[in-house]
Amino acid sequence: MEELLKVEQLKKHFVTSRGIVQAVSEATFSITAGETLGLVGESGSGKSTVAYMVMGLYQPTDGNIRFKDKNIGKYHQKRPLELKKELQIVFQDPGSSLNPRRSVGKILELPLKIHRIDSQFNLRKRILDLLDMVGLPKEYETKYPSSLGGGEKQMVAIARALSTDPSLIVLDEPTSALDVSIQAKIINTLIRIQKERNLGYLFITHDLSLMRNIAHRVAIMYLGRIVEQALTKDFFETPLHPYTQMLLASIPVVSEEEEKIKPERITSVGEIPSPVNIPPGCVFHPRCPKKMDICSQEEPTMVEYKPGHFVRCYLY
Ligand code: SF4
Repeated sequence: MEELLKVEQLKKHFVTSRGIVQAVSEATFSITAGETLGLVGESGSGKSTVAYMVMGLYQPTDGNIRFKDKNIGKYHQKRPLELKKELQIVFQDPGSSLNPRRSVGKILELPLKIHRIDSQFNLRKRILDLLDMVGLPKEYETKYPSSLGGGEKQMVAIARALSTDPSLIVLDEPTSALDVSIQAKIINTLIRIQKERNLGYLFITHDLSLMRNIAHRVAIMYLGRIVEQALTKDFFETPLHPYTQMLLASIPVVSEEEEKIKPERITSVGEIPSPVNIPPGCVFHPRCPKKMDICSQEEPTMVEYKPGHFVRCYLY
């Protein structure tokens, strides 16, 4: 499988009036063609900051981002057109990411013109193909975003991301503003399109239960660090990090089989610390029910517990 994206030791710190915000302190992962990596974390975990660095919207404080073996972290905002074409993003709120004064056809036409993807003659066919790809009727070409429902707007945003024929799409909480039934439709569409086009997805979400259906691998972020990363099956069957176990124990199960493998409820203590005031040692120790003396003294490193299953915790 072709490796599309490789992110190593990524860091992003912001200087603010309250001090230095350590939004991301360590993120290392890769994505191959046809693969979805779910990057999961609560609000403030740094997952969206990682996505914005991958897209060139934030410049990394340190670390490497390689796309198809080219160092792309260095470009920051002035990325070559060819690279922008290959790496696309779908944002959480389709309402604010679509221009309300343009029809759906015009919204889809713009990237095709910028990237000179098709001749004028073929533009219309291409727009209709994009609508068909996301399951919208061709009549939607003349509609405006204000007349569309939330799910339909997100389908247009996905069609726009697909218009440049990218290799990798960053999906930044693409379903979190939508009803559950519409969420399922969008997830199924994304899975189908991925299979058809061998696309890589970096799927950013706070909703761990979604990952069971769409992700091939899952990485969990807590206070700017990836604390566990594994194949989705291993991740749900043998979650290792106490934080992961806490997240999994809190999601509803839909079958007896899931009930059997669900970890016992772990109750964390305390609040998530501020990223301006990161605790010493393991950043989860103020909330961890399994903490030991060493946990508040030195930060654990990531270890490979078994092939492909990584965890950052002194218990392993
Ligand atoms: Fe808990 Fe210690 Fe593991 Fe951190 S290193 S998760 S505090 S047991």
